[in-house]
Amino acid sequence: MKTVKFIKRITLINIITILLFVILPSCISKVKEKTDEELKEMALKICENNIILDSHIDWPEKYLFFPEDISGKTLKGDFDLVRAKKGGLNVALSVAYINSNYEVDEGRILVDSVIKLVAGFTKTYPDKFAIAKNPDNIKKNFTNNLFSLPLCLENGTPIGDDLGYLKYLKRQGIVYITLNHDKANQISDSNFDKNRKWHGLSPFGLEMIKEMNNLGIMIDISHSTDSTVFQSLRYSIAPIVATHSSCRYFTPGLERNLSDTLIKAIADKNGIVMVNLCSMFLDSICMKNCSYLLDWYRSNKINMDSEEGIEFARKYEETHTIKSNSKQVVDHIEHIIQIAGIDYVGIGSDYDGMGPSQPIDLPDVSSYPTIVFELLKRGYTEENIKKILSDNFLRVWNKVIEIADSLHKDLAN
Ligand SMILES: [Zn+2]
Repeated sequence: MKTVKFIKRITLINIITILLFVILPSCISKVKEKTDEELKEMALKICENNIILDSHIDWPEKYLFFPEDISGKTLKGDFDLVRAKKGGLNVALSVAYINSNYEVDEGRILVDSVIKLVAGFTKTYPDKFAIAKNPDNIKKNFTNNLFSLPLCLENGTPIGDDLGYLKYLKRQGIVYITLNHDKANQISDSNFDKNRKWHGLSPFGLEMIKEMNNLGIMIDISHSTDSTVFQSLRYSIAPIVATHSSCRYFTPGLERNLSDTLIKAIADKNGIVMVNLCSMFLDSICMKNCSYLLDWYRSNKINMDSEEGIEFARKYEETHTIKSNSKQVVDHIEHIIQIAGIDYVGIGSDYDGMGPSQPIDLPDVSSYPTIVFELLKRGYTEENIKKILSDNFLRVWNKVIEIADSLHKDLAN
């Protein structure tokens, strides 16, 4: 009997061994063996079935120059509902961009015009668009097949020295504020500005960080100097976000992108880095050539979106590389994953804010499936891709609101 049992055990062990060494690898290789066409199909399904959130789209700025109805296909720009639907996009953080040369009053006029603009679209097309002030709104809108247009402010200049204005912004639905843009302002230093007058945050900037924590408005450090980011991390009790910044690792010397140390520090505080798709922030050669283009626009006082501006870029592009590609975008995403982990990365495209420097195969908001395809090719699961597409950002946003709520509870006690 014992011998029979032993033989049976040996046979069982053999079967298990066969299962482990023959069947399991064949499952893995089956995933690997998927054709590009099958992976593209999978990418489309993932984009269709899950929330895609892009944390930085400058469509209101584009609209103010070239007013077109974004509920249909537009002729100019990178964003409209038709292309967004094709790309599976459900949430566009809609930017009120304030030029660094604006005074406080001019900035406030622009903020109000963007608030009105977004509200106008949600009122004209209540079956298509909806405002979203928090992650619950985003999820509800997604269930109701409505496109979410949360508001955000890029450059805190309009706040002036009035913390009360922050309450106004919160009431109007502003969900994050980028501290500055390409020049130092009353809040902090800018990474595009050689003048480092505050060596990070100003005394008012410190007060503002506290009040943003208190109101549950996210602190966006894209455009901030390294010192500003470190100080924001130190003084904010809530996580901070980089809504449209990429990795300095690929563009050495470009402070506009985040160093590995800063990426890790932001993640350690439960924040997030949203990768910018602008070619000049993804690749050093594109950075050099795009910088030349931007200087040319500036010195000739020509708008990059004008016919003349577009034509100049087209000609220049015949002999110079100004466009990166989706593989490079995913290189940045993977770099953040390697430094910080899968829970701390997302996409903040900067569409409608990057002139002619969209990646060659990611021309507009119809392009998210191309990024997902590349992620699938590199072996990322749907669960992990969902985190990149929206879950990570929504988690941080929720946390910022939760911390503000707990502060109010503390005050009530
Ligand atoms: Zn920006």
